[in-house]
Amino acid sequence: MGSPEPLTILIAAYNEEASLPLLHPRLSAVLDGLDLPARMLYVDDGSRDTTWQVLCGLAQTDPRVALLRLSRNFGKEAALTAGLDRVTTGAAMILDADGQDPPELIPAFVAHWREGYDDVHGTRLEREGEGWLKRASAHAFYRVIGHLSRTPIPRDTGDFRLLSRRALDGLAQLRERGRFMKGLFAWVGYRQLTVPYHRQPRVAGRSKFGFWKLWNFALDGITSFSTAPLRVATYLGLATALAAFVFGVFILARTVLWGDPVRGYPSLAVLIVFLGGVQLIALGVIGEYLGRLYLEVKERPLYLVDDWRPPSADARSQG
Ligand code: UDP
Ligand code: MG
Repeated sequence: MGSPEPLTILIAAYNEEASLPLLHPRLSAVLDGLDLPARMLYVDDGSRDTTWQVLCGLAQTDPRVALLRLSRNFGKEAALTAGLDRVTTGAAMILDADGQDPPELIPAFVAHWREGYDDVHGTRLEREGEGWLKRASAHAFYRVIGHLSRTPIPRDTGDFRLLSRRALDGLAQLRERGRFMKGLFAWVGYRQLTVPYHRQPRVAGRSKFGFWKLWNFALDGITSFSTAPLRVATYLGLATALAAFVFGVFILARTVLWGDPVRGYPSLAVLIVFLGGVQLIALGVIGEYLGRLYLEVKERPLYLVDDWRPPSADARSQG
């Protein structure tokens, strides 16, 4: 083999002015110890604080730093896509800006990559500094999507991972707008390896994912990797129709055999409301898919770039 393939550390940052100055020195020290050419690519996902200024400061002192700034906040999935699109040679490793994914583990990931793995991903053993609600809902989510998705999506696994060149090339072909990255990584396949690690609390700042955002994210994930909810309506419909038939036979028999003084208003009301509810749910499920279909057919770009600064260390990679 000739010179080793380069590695790019990709970090999406949204309002991370407090965490980046703490993360960068740790990351830098780890990269110094690697026996391969390493770069950092920070993506500023339309931050409203001084994140961009902080990043420009880092790029000035460290020639290995590349910067990409999006035209507004597009969300973590789009920010990661924008970053991965700029990694045109070698492998990429994704890290959170808040230090929850310890950079000290990078050498272990690199070692597995050299063994020939294409997707080395960190699986959380526990989540420190996160409330019980987030932990419980994350736990439930991974189990639900595990059952529904035909693409096996590894449990308790986030974006913390190293992707080989061919995994990146595969991923680059998936241009869908509803981007559930954990699913897309899994869809690509190739040789995958799980590395358990202890997820640490945030070094500074606050989490960008509140409960509502996570709920919507979960819906995105489930709808983009499974059509099972659409089928639920079918089975629910079949079950109600069957129940209605049995009930109808019962009413008929009762009327014929014993005669029927006019009664049954409560049961009628319950039935109407129940069926109305079932129909609305089914419509809502169809709507979830239809809305996403609408977003896909518009074929808007996944993100827009405001500023791109390649690392000063390699003046070659213009673009
Ligand atoms: N992030 C981003 N764009 C967003 C929201 C978050 O790039 O719109 C980044 C954020 O800066 C961090 C990572 O995504 O590097 C994970 O975010 P966070 O730590 O808030 O999520 P949590 O760890 O709480 O799930
Ligand atoms: Mg975090």
